[in-house]
Amino acid sequence: MYHSISQNRHGKLFVSPEVFYQQMEHLNHAGYHTITFKDLLHWKTGEALPDKPVLITFDDGYLDNYKVAYPILKAFQMKATIFVTSDFIGSPNHLNWSQIREMEQSGFIEIGAHTRHHVELTKSKKLQRVDEVLGGKRRLEKGLGHPVIAFAYPSGKYNQNVVQVVKRAGFEFAVTTKPGYAAKRQGYLTLHRVRIGGEQSVAEFIRKIP
Ligand SMILES: [Zn+2]
Repeated sequence: MYHSISQNRHGKLFVSPEVFYQQMEHLNHAGYHTITFKDLLHWKTGEALPDKPVLITFDDGYLDNYKVAYPILKAFQMKATIFVTSDFIGSPNHLNWSQIREMEQSGFIEIGAHTRHHVELTKSKKLQRVDEVLGGKRRLEKGLGHPVIAFAYPSGKYNQNVVQVVKRAGFEFAVTTKPGYAAKRQGYLTLHRVRIGGEQSVAEFIRKIP
């Protein structure tokens, strides 16, 4: 789980381009195969996944995902999923539609949903919850012209009511910020992720994902 790949900003959510490059290089050398949530549908159909499958995800839909992460991913021929907050598309420091479409058409990037306005779904009322989850999905689908199957809970906040809304919206998978490798037993709508933060060294990354 990444957010921003940026050298100008520091903190938990920002990984520098150099470190991100080294992390992708490690995954490549260690024999990992990047997959998208569309590929993960194999969990449901019983088809095989490649050896050492890994899902690289970015939350929020920041502009640097296009400017910095995407060229690095393409250079390594690696796939990733960007969870986009639909109503922030085209706003400062966020992706715009032409960047989103270009990345998707490359075949390396899958777009997932992350609500309309990045609200904490556990604190919102039912109607707003539905509008944020289903509305965000529909806006992305309208712009992309095909179904969006994966969702990330903003700030990792969810409860049974929220999961119900995500289920009814028709998502195949949803990811949380609970730490760890994703596994079927967690439930398809409450999958765990490994947080890759800005303070982390490459050695630490390799320890987490050997
Ligand atoms: Zn987010």
